[in-house]
Amino acid sequence: MSTGKINVSVENIFPLIKKFLYSDHEIFLRELISNATDATLKLKHLSSIGEANVTYGNPMIEVKVDKEAKQLRIIDQGLGMTAEEVEKYINQVAFSGAEEFLNKYEDSAKDAGIIGHFGLGFYSAFMVADKVEIITKSYKDEPAAHWSCDGSPEFTLTEADKSERGTEIILHIAEDSTEFLEEARIRELLTKYNKFMPVPIKFGTKVETLEKPEGAKEEDPAPTQEVDDIINNPNPAWTKQPTDLEEDDYKNFYRELYPMQFDEPLFNIHLNVDYPFNLTGILYFPKLGQDMNMQKDRIQLYQNQVFVTDNVEGIVPDFLTMLRGVIDSPDIPLNVSRSYLQADGAVKKISGYITRKVADKLKSLFTNDREDFEAKWNDIKLVIEYGMLSEDKFFEKAEKFALYPTVDGDYLTWEELEGKIKENQTDKDGKMVVLYASDTDAQHAYIQTAKDKGYTVLLLDSPIVPHLIQKLETSKENVSFVRVDGDHIDNLIKKEETQISKLSDEEKEQLKEVITKSIENSSYTVQMEAMDSDAAPFIITQPEFMRRMKEMQQTGGGPNMFGNMPEMYNLVVNANHPLVSDILNTKTDKKKERLIKQSFDLAKLSQNLLKGEALTDFIKRSYDMIK
Ligand code: ADP
Repeated sequence: MSTGKINVSVENIFPLIKKFLYSDHEIFLRELISNATDATLKLKHLSSIGEANVTYGNPMIEVKVDKEAKQLRIIDQGLGMTAEEVEKYINQVAFSGAEEFLNKYEDSAKDAGIIGHFGLGFYSAFMVADKVEIITKSYKDEPAAHWSCDGSPEFTLTEADKSERGTEIILHIAEDSTEFLEEARIRELLTKYNKFMPVPIKFGTKVETLEKPEGAKEEDPAPTQEVDDIINNPNPAWTKQPTDLEEDDYKNFYRELYPMQFDEPLFNIHLNVDYPFNLTGILYFPKLGQDMNMQKDRIQLYQNQVFVTDNVEGIVPDFLTMLRGVIDSPDIPLNVSRSYLQADGAVKKISGYITRKVADKLKSLFTNDREDFEAKWNDIKLVIEYGMLSEDKFFEKAEKFALYPTVDGDYLTWEELEGKIKENQTDKDGKMVVLYASDTDAQHAYIQTAKDKGYTVLLLDSPIVPHLIQKLETSKENVSFVRVDGDHIDNLIKKEETQISKLSDEEKEQLKEVITKSIENSSYTVQMEAMDSDAAPFIITQPEFMRRMKEMQQTGGGPNMFGNMPEMYNLVVNANHPLVSDILNTKTDKKKERLIKQSFDLAKLSQNLLKGEALTDFIKRSYDMIK
């Protein structure tokens, strides 16, 4: 037997390890299973190149809980260690690794999130155990070794009588960590971190129901047998070649990743590069709908099939964090802070690659089956629109597949839209006017008016639309977007003939004054216009600019000064409408006011602006009129 002191410069490293990232104690299990996996795969490699004269067989890793003895054991059938190797790898290399890691990250660890996921290695066992033993037998013809350490820098190293190759780690779980003696807790951790690790992991046994033998009676119970409970899938779909997978394999893998998710993904993107960086993975487009926030944190990041995190912020462009699936890369540096990660060259390349793959996939879906793409548009548009807004490269690529739906359910590309409206939808300055609605019910009257005149109206209803059209206006030449209720249609779009006013300028001035006084509302600016006599007499509009700025602010971003401003509207009065002449010619002030109030309320009603007491009064007044 030999005893010794681990080569330490910091006497108190064990308390330090224990304190380290108190919220992340659970990662010890992942670290130990990673070591067991490495040891197993190393042996596989050695035997395949003829260096190790062993039968590799079908090794697995076993995790055992003994609540009574307060022990947790991790047993592998990997290459094992000789006493000399334990001395070297555990007492020296691993220890100095852990020490260095702690020195480096002690200060920054708490706020960095991802830090602590990697690096502590074997010694993370001391976060939950007050004594750790290693019993290990090398594949080499040497006696087994037994290492034991009780959390002080002293250790013992003796010979052991283990005869099968491999390593057994015994953790004597500390008083304050007994949660790790609960079977359910261990199962939870294994499922979280090791679900797709490349070596089968056994955790206890389970009972499996077998087929009834031929000729068995209905009431005979089906036979059962006890089998190893393997908790992981060592060959997950993303590690396979796309050519070896069917559509159903992708769907099944989605189920595996999100067992609690009942909807089907819309489509998937298989990522697979090995130069200039290594990355594999499968991304899924889920049905998104309108909600942007609920969806995040669903992509899982793995490093060589070991789960790292489901927060991929900084690695994947923000707009893609709404997708689901898996990314696996050994090239993503993990022991660094997020801001460092975002600036890292390799990570930038990865992010660019993923963006490109997603754009290519969308383009091929659009080209190969446009009808299907259109049918899915409403479920995927949020990601695409957000991507167009935030990534210039994606914006360029999206030119080919981004769709602009009309209120009548036609889906147009930008090019098609332009072809349709360039000639007949221009404003006074010759700019192409893209009319859009955000709500077909609320803006029904305005949409109808525009359609009656033969104009095309888009339906753009995502929450980020105000930002997107702002971007479209600046990146495309000579285009302006305006919501159908932004102004009266004849003011928005240039017409050949100009309307002749039936009222004189004086009469208009006079009317404007009376109306302004009667409606008693400073949020409305009265505007006299000579329009078609069949256009409504009073129309409420909301100027595009102010409304858009306010909306941009509500959804984040946009200039600050508009947020607190009150809603401002225009009350457009059609000076050519007979009712307006009637108002002018009405003798008594009282009757005049009644006509104005009723018309104003009707205009508000059509813009969904008549509420509360005003609505109650309006209804009462209307009943009085017809009774
Ligand atoms: P790392 O795995 O990052 O090298 P660790 O502290 O986890 O650091 O482990 C240190 C070393 O101890 C490993 O590199 C390996 O040589 C050895 N080791 C740890 N666990 C095992 C095991 N289960 N089987 C064989 N060797 C092991």
